[in-house]
Parts: sequence; structure tokens; C-alpha cells
Amino acid sequence: KNILCVVGTRPEAIKMAPVILELRKQPWANVRVLATAQHRQMLDQVLSFFDIQPDIDLNIMRPNQALTELTARLLLELDTVLKAEKPDVVLVQGDTTTVMTVALACFYHRIPIGHVEAGLRTWDMQNPFPEEANRVIAGKLARWHFAPTEGSRQNLLKDGIADSDIIVTGNTVVDALLATAQRDLDLGITLPADKRMVLVTSHRRENFGAPFRNICRALQTLAQNNPDVEFLYPVHPNPNVKDVAYEYLAHIPNVTLCEPLDYAPFVAAMKRAYLILTDSGGVQEEAPALGKPVLVLREETERPEAVEEGVVKLVGSDYDRIVAEAQRLLDDEAAYKAMARGVSPYGDGHAAERIARLLQEQLL
Ligand code: UDP
Repeated sequence: KNILCVVGTRPEAIKMAPVILELRKQPWANVRVLATAQHRQMLDQVLSFFDIQPDIDLNIMRPNQALTELTARLLLELDTVLKAEKPDVVLVQGDTTTVMTVALACFYHRIPIGHVEAGLRTWDMQNPFPEEANRVIAGKLARWHFAPTEGSRQNLLKDGIADSDIIVTGNTVVDALLATAQRDLDLGITLPADKRMVLVTSHRRENFGAPFRNICRALQTLAQNNPDVEFLYPVHPNPNVKDVAYEYLAHIPNVTLCEPLDYAPFVAAMKRAYLILTDSGGVQEEAPALGKPVLVLREETERPEAVEEGVVKLVGSDYDRIVAEAQRLLDDEAAYKAMARGVSPYGDGHAAERIARLLQEQLL
């Protein structure tokens, strides 16, 4: 069977890699990889780390690309690809423009879609950011829904998807993480060995502007009040992020700002961290599996499971709240231990195997 696996951005590649590697082991599967390269450099480093060469590369990224233009160009390119490849199934992952557009193109070509990480919802379509619409549209068009958790299965049922088309697999991000974390990893940055480290990532669009300034001010205060703690922040190249982060944090001696880390050094950084502050979806899923408490720099999350479990806490972008919550975890050992329990609601590292098994049952 011809299976076309599509990746567009860094998180898609991290979460699709275990599926590609698992399917490659299957004698019945002819796996082809399509990179739309909605993001370029950050995608490439992940693919090369997992030893995956795209068979087709659309190299679609343009400077300052608008979503309408990206969607239109991608839809046309996909027409050609799908006609040539004639896949029996196409696998997409997550909630990007790539996912939504591939789902639509496959619908026109009557090719079944398998949606990896299906059923995440904020139920807020008025939010101007495209992720919710992307995953809802992909969900409506998909044939098989690989839900990471029971909660995401419930979301899909609420959205009218038939129970028989949903399978709870766990999130493939945990497959990738556990396989990577046991390798010999090098962070590539020297930090004082005796100091605790707080790892920060923040580049979500909904935080651009005033919220991101609050976040950076809070980090500045935390770093100044805790000279015995080292802060490591790999900064996204977007000027909305980079310019502000450097303005507030570059001059503080116990803050290290760096380029986005490649995946393996980033896993090393998560392992080395005492505490993680992030607005990333993937990091919210990875950190609990490593037993690291996370403060989420957002007002809402489509990943409520770890919050309900008490190992991740939503703190939004309010200056006082971020400072108070982070300081508490640095000072109060009992509060810290309660969050550092190593509970992983997003999977056991075998999600890709479940996806491969389901496809085998359905396709053969
Ligand atoms: N990540 C990375 N280098 C970094 C920051 C994050 O490799 O400097 C990885 C991280 O392990 C996670 C993914 O990138 O799996 C998260 O990507 P991002 O935050 O951009 O997207 P989101 O998860 O919010 O979709």
C-alpha cells in the first residue's frame, strides 16, 4: 500500500517521524514522505536527525507569506503531487495550514486521510489564529482519527465523528521524545553545573505585542531576583519575538539567549531543566513525560489533561502571576515535587505502533 506522510513544520516533523519510521518497518507499506516545507530550516534539522529524506519537497515557504497565498499555492501543487503519487492513504499531523490544505486536496481526489493528533479543541472559532479551524476542517474530512487521549476522542464524538473511526493512540511526540532522551545528548551550551536552570520558549502568535512584553518583563524580574538560577531561552527568529526578548533580557548575566535549538539539544535542555516556562503545545506534552513542571504562558490550552493532572499550570501572560508562580516553584520544594511527578497523560511511547496496526487492519 502506498502511504504518503506529509510534514510542513518542525512540530509536524517531530510528531510524524515515529510514524514514518514505524511504517518503514512494515513489509506491506510503501512509505513516501512529502515535505511542504511551510517552515524550512527548523523542519530540515528534525528530518535529518531522524534520518528521513523527503521524497517530494514543495519548498513552499516565502518571506512574510500570507496564509491565503500559502494555501492557494499549496493546493495547486498538491494537485500535481496527488495525481503522480496516487497514494492509498495520506497521513497528516496536527493543525497547520499544511494539514488543512492537504485534507482538502485529498477530499477532492477522494483519497482517505489519516489524521495524527486528532481531536484537540479549544472550541473557540472566533480566535483569529488558524489552528482551531485547521484541525476542525481536517477532522471533518479525515477517514481515520488518531486521537492522543480519551479527552480528544470525546471531542471528536462531540464533533459528530463516528466512534468506529477514532482510535486512541497516545501522542507520537512521546514516542519521539523517549527514543531521543535515551540517546547520548549534548546541549551544546555550557551552563554553570551547580545552578538550577529554567528553560523558556515563547513564540506563539497570540502572545505577540503586549502579552509578550509582559512575559519578557516577568522573566527579567525572575532572573534579577534569582541570581543563583540560570535561564535558558532559545529565541524564535520572528522579529516580534527576537527584538523584544533581546531588549529585555540580553543584558542580564544569568540569562542565556540563543538561536532555536535543534531537536536533540532541545531534549537535552528539557532534561537539564528544573522548571519550564512555555507557550508551546509540544513542550506541554513532552515535559510531563520527563517529570518537569511546566508553567504555560497562555490563557487557554487545547491540552487540558496535564493541567487536570496537576503537572502543568496555566499562568497566562500576566506579569504578577508569572513571577509569583515561578518564584513559588523555585522556593517551595513541596509545591515543586507535587508538579514533578513524571505523570505523562499524552502517551506511553507506542503511539506509532498503534497507528501502523490500525492502518494495516484497514488497508489490507
Ligand atoms: N523544539 C526544538 N527546539 C527549540 C524549541 C522547541 O526542537 O528550540 C521542539 C520541541 O521539543 C517540541 C517542538 O519543537 O517538540 C515544539 O515546537 P513549537 O513550540 O514551535 O510548536 P508547537 O508545539 O507549539 O506546535
